[in-house]
Amino acid sequence: MDRNNSTTLVIKDFQGVKIHSFISPYPYAANATHVIETVHELVVVDTQFLNPIAQAFRAYVDGLGKPVNRVFISHGHPDHYFGLASAFSDCKAYSLAGVNQIIEEWGPQMIKNQKPTFGDLIPDAVLVPQHNVAPSTSEVIDGLTYEYEVVEGAESEAQLLIKLPELGTVIAQDLVYSGVHIWLGMGWFEKWAAELQRLADTAGYDYILAGHGLPCTKDEIHNNIRYIQTAQRLLKMA
Ligand SMILES: [Zn+2]
Repeated sequence: MDRNNSTTLVIKDFQGVKIHSFISPYPYAANATHVIETVHELVVVDTQFLNPIAQAFRAYVDGLGKPVNRVFISHGHPDHYFGLASAFSDCKAYSLAGVNQIIEEWGPQMIKNQKPTFGDLIPDAVLVPQHNVAPSTSEVIDGLTYEYEVVEGAESEAQLLIKLPELGTVIAQDLVYSGVHIWLGMGWFEKWAAELQRLADTAGYDYILAGHGLPCTKDEIHNNIRYIQTAQRLLKMA
């Protein structure tokens, strides 16, 4: 282990609720997974990509000494859901119906594609979340309000965005990349920038949990918009 090879842990204490962000080493994409710790229970968001890192995250979660109410999977990219099979298979897992469908349809192919590179570092099969979250709804889990939204056509086809209004926190996952290069594989520059602007314009949410990199503020959303617009311009020139 050295500086480049270490996991980063950020704990934000909201006086009664803690948000723990567990970030994989930067050479492994700085995947950010989170635990919301309320009085009696834990809620996990995303599960890491590689088995040993997912298992280290699980050991951290277990070390908090409270039961896991559920795991949310933000979207259908394997760096967010492979760890569900390798480290959280005993937990109830939730996502948008559309995301669950993407994982079911594309997950086996993702395993097949990645196996030659990663071998035993990834699971042999995917686990599809069995529970659906309805967008534009909210619920209270262990005293904390969770608001669910769908973001379409940004970093992925569809992703779950969760707001925690009492904490002024938004769990943006891969809508926002914090301090790392943005994955532009889908090429939906304008829609993505518009969704980021919409989030930047939403008052009352100043603690932003990214899907890669450290938790951040709205400054990073503006950086992301500039990054995406610059990439679009450069690609047009190429
Ligand atoms: Zn990702």
